[in-house]
Amino acid sequence: MTEGSQPVAGEQASGAPLVSRAALLRGVRQKVDIVGIDVEQPRRGEVLVRMGATGVCQSDLSIYEGRLPNPLPMVLGHEGAGSVVAVGDGVTSVSPGDHVVLSWLAQCGHCYYCLAGQPSVCETANDAMLRGTLLDGTTRYSLDGSTVYHMAGLGTFSELCVVPEGAAVKVPQEIGFAQAALLGCSVLTGFGAAVNTGGVRPGESVAVIGCGGVGLNAVQGAKLSGASEIVAVDLHPERLELARQLGATYAVTPHDMLVKQIRGLTQGRGVDVAIEAAGRQESIRDALRMTRKGGRIVLVGAGPEEVRLNVSAFNGIVLTEKVIRGSFYGSSWAARDVERLTKLYASNQLKLAELVSQTFAFEELNDALSYCADERGARAVILFEDGGAA
Ligand SMILES: [Zn+2]
Ligand SMILES: [Zn+2]
Repeated sequence: MTEGSQPVAGEQASGAPLVSRAALLRGVRQKVDIVGIDVEQPRRGEVLVRMGATGVCQSDLSIYEGRLPNPLPMVLGHEGAGSVVAVGDGVTSVSPGDHVVLSWLAQCGHCYYCLAGQPSVCETANDAMLRGTLLDGTTRYSLDGSTVYHMAGLGTFSELCVVPEGAAVKVPQEIGFAQAALLGCSVLTGFGAAVNTGGVRPGESVAVIGCGGVGLNAVQGAKLSGASEIVAVDLHPERLELARQLGATYAVTPHDMLVKQIRGLTQGRGVDVAIEAAGRQESIRDALRMTRKGGRIVLVGAGPEEVRLNVSAFNGIVLTEKVIRGSFYGSSWAARDVERLTKLYASNQLKLAELVSQTFAFEELNDALSYCADERGARAVILFEDGGAA
């Protein structure tokens, strides 16, 4: 950061680009470098945020490893929280000094899908997310005059981040940045998969397959919806222990007799709702088999392209009336659901601190990526310099 380049809180956005330290992915599987990039001031309808914390998610790794092709060079990171430094013209929902959670879908609120009540497939936001740009198709990041892309329209592995107003959701200052950051991806997605997509009701039985950041929050969502039995399935014992803390009533590692075991917990019928959060072929197969007739299967895992649904149309779906639903971003509307989640957190119903398994300094970003790749704990969270401040 060059001396004098930092805008002062309360300042209106204007003038020369700022310099920000950012983690740049130049090529697939290349070590991520922290370099000084230029960050353009926010344009109309945009917000400049100083990042406090950012989580590391499997989707960051998918881009890093080339499983999810994206334009490069790119600043990764899409699960962050920070404080507003400056706003562009026309911004009304946040002001400098506000603490915000960043949403990787800057839902527009007025396209066909938003008006139809399905903002998680908002066409405006989806285009930007896939292109690695902001909503107008351009980026605010550059290096030596060349374009640098924003992962999912954000790019939170940067001290300074410019995002559309719709991607910055104000949160109470009492939530620390590390906890708040998780609301932006894993909590919204997992909680939403159970509550919004799965429509879990009191007394229902729910299985959650894959208990990383998303699956653990599906467990929380199922519990807060009143599910009576919640079965957590994961390969890693430490994640199963976390799942128990968050409300799972059974926790099992996958094995050959898994479907039979889970059916056995429900008088042989199968669970009312199965939530697949691993994106794996075998767990999707199991999710279909462990769900009762007329039950719901929610697919929320971001698996590789070759993972397929393989089910008999008549015997598997017609005869059983099973419902399979895709869940993107937990079918969430960020502005509405972040507020709900912060209220649940304030009343001690939603757990967030337990999900921050390990924190890293920004300089340790590559270690945080490795931690995530090893599927350890719930979340690795990077704290920026003022990340400890509430
Ligand atoms: Zn994510
Ligand atoms: Zn929209």
